[in-house]
Amino acid sequence: MTEILILGEQANGDLNSLSKELLAAADSISDNISIAFLGNDNRSVAEDAIRYGASKVYLLQSKLLNDWSVDTRVAAYEHLLGKISPSVILLGKTQIGQDIGPRLACRLGVGLSQDSISIALDPKTMRPVATRPVLGGRMIAKVSFAEDGPNIIVIRKGSYDINKPNDNNEGDIQEITFHVEQSDKNIHHIQTILSDPGGVKLENAPVIVAGGRGLGGPEPFEMLSDLAKLLGGSVGASRAACDAGWIDHNYQIGLTGKNVSPALYITVGISGASQHMAGCSGAKFIVAINKDPDANIFKEASLGAVGDWEKILPSFISTVKDLLET
Ligand SMILES: Cc1cc2nc3c(=O)[nH]c(=O)nc-3n(C[C@H](O)[C@H](O)[C@H](O)COP(=O)(O)OP(=O)(O)OC[C@H]3O[C@@H](n4cnc5c(N)ncnc54)[C@H](O)[C@@H]3O)c2cc1C
Repeated sequence: MTEILILGEQANGDLNSLSKELLAAADSISDNISIAFLGNDNRSVAEDAIRYGASKVYLLQSKLLNDWSVDTRVAAYEHLLGKISPSVILLGKTQIGQDIGPRLACRLGVGLSQDSISIALDPKTMRPVATRPVLGGRMIAKVSFAEDGPNIIVIRKGSYDINKPNDNNEGDIQEITFHVEQSDKNIHHIQTILSDPGGVKLENAPVIVAGGRGLGGPEPFEMLSDLAKLLGGSVGASRAACDAGWIDHNYQIGLTGKNVSPALYITVGISGASQHMAGCSGAKFIVAINKDPDANIFKEASLGAVGDWEKILPSFISTVKDLLET
């Protein structure tokens, strides 16, 4: 049976939703699923991972180092991979996952597929085949691996539905302590600065209201933010709006911004350039407001309103308020 190792992540002591998706992705091709976490104080996260389908959990701890820089993370995983031999390693497409994946692939001399949206097994070779959007989302490529594993696949958030947790699942939790030399650590953590302490995190938002150059300035983003709050979501933006300095680049969605997969994506004054759509093609339902009936966004949207956002958006917001009150 193909052994899959997931490099899991946690957020504030909870198994993060992308790791749950990775467990579902692994479950679609194997019953032999292990997951590794950094830190040995993660018992509840480990137990949660078992409920979501892991049969083995590794808790990795170094006595020497407490903060997990990329160097120590890679060292921890390299140490684990000296002890076990999975065929496939799965990571989530987070800042950490995208950083660790290539470093680990280089250290192990194995293949890597970034930004993948699904995995399958080649029935002949039993090696994984990853699917990933390329050319700004215009085409889908299948990535197969020339050598046996452990081949590494980085999966985009929103690609898999999370399995229902099962309290009857059983699994094994192993604590592994390893040693890292201070000299192995090239990056030193100085300070953590939270750029967006309030609101719903863009990557996790079920609803995103994104604004573009058509807004004409920074002020309208307040109206977009009001709508996003009403719907329990977050504001997003096109690169043109970020480049203009109307909103921070942290909110940029697209090829060179964030990938998002909300249930509802509302665009206001965004033309729908392929580089923008590359970041929101996972959205389940797109609603577009744009004054140009020929704008590309209308080819991608499930619903559209042609007209000036200044006329449409206030009545849209007041209708949403009315609907929420009834
Ligand atoms: C390598 C590369 C990477 C890129 N990466 C990204 C990326 O990550 N994300 C991204 O977004 N872009 C990216 N771009 C830029 C991208 O090509 C577009 O230029 C950008 O998405 C356009 O942003 P926009 O839709 O806000 O602006 P525009 O294309 O200028 O569109 C503005 C729209 O607003 C409409 N409008 C104007 N006034 C009103 C009004 N009053 N009411 C209603 N509608 C109105 C117009 O009809 C128009 O359709 C990238 C480009 C390159 C080359």
